[in-house]
Order: sequence, then structure tokens, then C-alpha cells
Amino acid sequence: MVEKLQAEWDNDLFTQVQQQFENAAQKLSLDENIFNRLRVPDKALLVSVPFRLDDGSIRVVSGYRVHHNDTLGPYKGGIRYHEKVNLGEVAALAMLMTWKCALVNLPLGGAKGGIQIDPNPLSRNEIQRMTRRFTSEINNFIGPDVDIPAPDMGTNEQVMAWMMDTYSQIHGYAIPEIVTGKPVIIGGSLGRSKATGRGVVYCILEALKAMHQTLDTQTTVAIQGYGNVGSAAAEELAGLGARVFAVSDVTTGIYHEEGLDLNKVQSWIQKNRFLEGFPEAQSISNEELLQLQVKILIPAAAEDVITKEIAQNLKCEMIAEGANGPITLEADKVINDREDIFVIPDVLANAGGVIVSYFEWIQGLQNFFWKEVEVNQRMNEIISHAFQTIYQFSQDKKVTMRMAALMLGIDKISRAMLTRGFFPG
Ligand code: GLU
Repeated sequence: MVEKLQAEWDNDLFTQVQQQFENAAQKLSLDENIFNRLRVPDKALLVSVPFRLDDGSIRVVSGYRVHHNDTLGPYKGGIRYHEKVNLGEVAALAMLMTWKCALVNLPLGGAKGGIQIDPNPLSRNEIQRMTRRFTSEINNFIGPDVDIPAPDMGTNEQVMAWMMDTYSQIHGYAIPEIVTGKPVIIGGSLGRSKATGRGVVYCILEALKAMHQTLDTQTTVAIQGYGNVGSAAAEELAGLGARVFAVSDVTTGIYHEEGLDLNKVQSWIQKNRFLEGFPEAQSISNEELLQLQVKILIPAAAEDVITKEIAQNLKCEMIAEGANGPITLEADKVINDREDIFVIPDVLANAGGVIVSYFEWIQGLQNFFWKEVEVNQRMNEIISHAFQTIYQFSQDKKVTMRMAALMLGIDKISRAMLTRGFFPG
């Protein structure tokens, strides 16, 4: 019997991820008991986080951490700071983490967390106080063998450093393995900060190979989002000879018909934080960027940015989902029906981040650290192999790359759950 879902999960992204799961489960003829267990998270924590603002007043915000599934190993997933974060969204993202880790064969489960706040207007000290109080509130829910947070939208390695320090202060000794994506100086991994963007590019290279094409100066790219993922992907692609026509952030998009000078964009960002006002390019909206005539489109910002209307007007040949859930369910259907755009789904395209998080975690546990070339090479091996497996499966079963990825990930969890058996029996 299929139970009605709790209203607490009610959220567009949760519905989208749920629908994807149901479609994949149906194609897999998934065991009914496993289906009922996997469609909802294992557990969720909602905390109120009071923290002092610089003016002396105290603000109280909502924080979340959701554990979706830990059949294969400790829960793993990012922490996001964004004004739209809520329980349903975090639960959906936790579920995606379960499929993502399984798909690339990591011995980790799926989790996600976040705080419902726009961090942009906050000062560094305010973010620090909020992060430390949030960490102490979720202290009993996380642990280096239990649940290991990492950065996500709106958080960065400094936030991870504060989480690590707070957790270590509570427990009385340094516990770097409590988070990944932390600065190298306190036990972070070389190559972690650029890993997600690099992984996106490794997948693009595999996709081009599968289409008997190569990457060259004719390969044009547009990237929505110029944060950690988008900027690293842009740099890597430009280094390989591709031309990045357009990038964007929350303030604006910038476009140059011969390709942007990314060094100049980078130094502008360092000085001005946002793209707005960048002089050597035309400014375009985020919607216009998504509809540009380019070979490769990389949505690397928020979820649900490619709507049905935008999907009908897409002029790219390939989409590599740097962000989680950037294509709505209706848009996904439009794109599948068009049959002229190759989609590398989020759970595969952006898995480079969690793969190198796994490397960081095991380097920390062994107190033995690798060179950056080793990190990049091992990540490339894992993600390229995953791409090839998914691509082959999608060809054999005549399903989309997304469906193939989900089917393979879900099937792995399901087999592991059946092997472990049911408690208490
Ligand atoms: N937040 C990233 C993701 O969505 C990374 C998670 C991690 O490294 O644990 O995959």
C-alpha cells in the first residue's frame, strides 16, 4: 500500500524528485517495501537558530538537516544558506544525494541541510555566529561516522572551517573529518574547491567522445551561475580551448560574441563581488543566457530555472546540470520530446564535488594527504567510468541519461537494502 505523503514535504523540488523516483522505480519494478521506504527520508531535524547581529539585536532563523538514507555508509551532503530553503527542498536534495553517492559507488548515504536566510546582506561576523550556533544545534545529528556536511549554495570553505571548529570545541579535540570542503590548512583536500566544476567538464568531455566529437574553439558555452561550480567549469573549459560566451550571477548576465576574457571577469569579481558593471561585455538577463545559441549550456545556479517555456526555446546541443534540479519536470519532458539536446543529469554531472569530499574524508581519517594531480585523476576515473556505464545503460534500455542514472543508483541502494535485511524483522 502506498501512503499519502506528509504535508511537511510539500515543495516543488520534492514533488519533482519524488516523481523522478517513482518513474525510475516503476521501470525497475522496484520491490514495494523498498519503494515505500525510499520515497521518504529516514529522519529530519528542524532547529531554530538564534544569533546576534552586529547591531546587538538577536535574529532567529530556521535551520534544517535531513537524513535520507544511510544503507551504504554515513549520511553525506551539503549545507545551503538561501532564503528559499525549507524542509521539503532540503529533503529533495538529500534524496538526490543518496542516488548520487550510490551512482558513483561511494560508501556514503544521502543528506542535506540548510538555513532559511539570504547570507548576502550579513557581515562575516554575523555569518560566523549563525554558523556556530547552527552547528551546536545540530551537534547530536552529525558526526564523522554518522553524517558529514559540506558546502552548498551560499556556503563556502570558511563556513566549513567554523563548523569544524565549533564541533571540535564541543567535543574537546580537533575533529577535521566532521566536514568536507574545508580549507586545506585544516585538513581539506587539494582540488576540492574546484572539484564540482571540474567534474562537470570531465562529463562533458565523455559526452563529446560518445558523440564522436572533440572540444575545440568552435565549442561555445554559456554558464548560468558564476559561483564555485560555474567559475571552475568556465576556467577548465577555457583552458581546454572552448569559448565561454556568457556567464551570469544574481545581479546580471554578461555576454561577448567572441568569448569572454575570464581572467578579467575573475579579477572583476574579486574586486566587486558581483558581475554587475563588468565593462567589456554586453549585459543580458539570466533567461536570455539560457536561450543563447551555444553548443553547451551549464545551469550552475539554482533549481527549476529551465521552465517549460524556456525549454521550448533552448538553442543548445547539450546541457550539463552543474546545479541540482535546474530543469523542471515539465521542461524535462519538453527536452526529452525534442530529442535534439543531450542532457547530463545533476546526479552525474555535479558528482565531482562529493567524490572529492569522499577523498577528503578518507585522507583525514588516514592522516595521509594526496597530491592535487592524484585527486583530479582519481575523480576523473570515477566520474568518467560512471558516465560510460550510464551512457551504455541508457542506450541499451532506450531511456534518457537521467532515467538511466536514477535507475542504476536506486537499483544499487535497493540491492544493498535487501542484502542487509530488515530490522527488527
Ligand atoms: N553540496 C554538494 C552536492 O550537492 C557537495 C556535497 C558533498 O560534498 O558532500 O553534491
